[in-house]
Amino acid sequence: MAEKQEEPSNTQNGEPDNAEEGEEKKKKKVKREDLPPFEIVTGERLPAIFFKFQFRNVEYSSGRNKTFLCYVVETQGKESVTSRGYLEDEHAAAHAEIAFFNTILPKCESSLRYNITWYVSSSPCVTCADRITETLRKNKNLRLTIMVGRLFMWEEPEMQAALKKMKAAGCKLRIMKPQDFEYVWQNFVEQEEGQEAKSFVPWEDIQENFQYYEEKLAEILH
Ligand SMILES: [Zn+2]
Repeated sequence: MAEKQEEPSNTQNGEPDNAEEGEEKKKKKVKREDLPPFEIVTGERLPAIFFKFQFRNVEYSSGRNKTFLCYVVETQGKESVTSRGYLEDEHAAAHAEIAFFNTILPKCESSLRYNITWYVSSSPCVTCADRITETLRKNKNLRLTIMVGRLFMWEEPEMQAALKKMKAAGCKLRIMKPQDFEYVWQNFVEQEEGQEAKSFVPWEDIQENFQYYEEKLAEILH
């Protein structure tokens, strides 16, 4: 985003130099307030450019400091209701996983069953993993499957222990296969309006990276 420019000082005590400039400023201001830098963003479909960068299952995730979490929540009661959407976070704010429990599913009704699937760009950090474990232990009517593009900090013993606890609490943790990336592309990525949906183009090392992470995960959770 472009840097904010200094406003000319001669507009301070009265009308702006011309009306048009005033309008332009207002628009800019509204835009800035709509999207503060550190906030949880929610929506139905994420822009393709974010998907292509953030979900790529590279081995070293430098620059990828956000978590994108796409979710499908199937609630089974008298009727079955499915809702879907996505959350993204910035490094400095609450993580998307915690935001999911705070905003999307603030409470579980004990009379209902919840089947939840997340498609997340990377696996949770220790704090989020502990929150997931705690939520699953408290709510036996909640099933959670987490499909991740990459493993986050998987070499750390503390991280490995947190993932094991998540598994013991019933969380299914899986590495996304090329077909899963395609599923996210088709169901959670914005397609250009009035145009035919573009088909998913896998990146060169998608299969290789999937296998790499799947091996690591199997070693951690064995
Ligand atoms: Zn986290």
